Amino acid sequence: MSLKTNIVKINFGIVCVFPDIIDALKFGIIGKAIDNKHININTYDIKSFTSSRKDRIDDKPYGGGPGMIIRYEPLRDAILAAKEKLGNDSLVIYLSPQGRLFEQTMVNKLSSNYTNIILICGRYEGIDARIIENFVDIELSIGNYVLSGGEFAALVIIDSVSRQLDGVLGNKASAISDSLYDKLLEYPQYTRPAIIDNHKVPSTLLSGDHKSIDKWRTQKSLEITKDKRPELLQKNNLDT
Ligand code: SAM
Repeated sequence: MSLKTNIVKINFGIVCVFPDIIDALKFGIIGKAIDNKHININTYDIKSFTSSRKDRIDDKPYGGGPGMIIRYEPLRDAILAAKEKLGNDSLVIYLSPQGRLFEQTMVNKLSSNYTNIILICGRYEGIDARIIENFVDIELSIGNYVLSGGEFAALVIIDSVSRQLDGVLGNKASAISDSLYDKLLEYPQYTRPAIIDNHKVPSTLLSGDHKSIDKWRTQKSLEITKDKRPELLQKNNLDT
């Protein structure tokens, strides 16, 4: 199986209220991907797009109800600034608990088809719905729970998509063997020592016979998927 992407660089524009959260990307492999210019991160602080310092970015919802809604104008202007930098044809994603569930198939699709991606992060009770009608290509949810802000969802999306890009992982094979890439969970992994607390590393892995090792790993992937996530096998018509 080969890694689908040939894309080597993605520009991300993150439209949000707390851009400092996005700094969490500076660690590990994704931090290196930023340093090596495989990904480019531009943040757009919605608070900077009000007409005066006193101007608020949120307001009460029409019809009443709890909480505040991010207003149309500053959010629109932040999105337009992101589009000006990344291009009008950028894919615009709104992170939302109402969106399509974000899964590995979507990670693979984004990492092999899009070089400019704008992520809109909501806060409070959400955003003025007209932003979705006028600007958003797709709404994505990172899970069936509600976060207090879309910045955390943006981190998840940027991390998972970026590690698929050519050149980001030291060894291209590691993304392919990861759980869910081919819709199976990964086989068990061991490192030295070969025996600890009376537990041995399976002898096949010590044999040096790569054909047998591949066979063992495929079998274990199927068994583990059947045990931990049987619905994945049903979904893909695979079985042990
Ligand atoms: N009132 C909104 C609703 O019920 O749909 C939820 C608003 S939530 C408190 C604030 C923001 O967090 C949302 O606008 C969205 O950007 C983000 N968010 C919350 N849960 C999310 C999820 N599961 N996936 C992606 N983004 C989420």
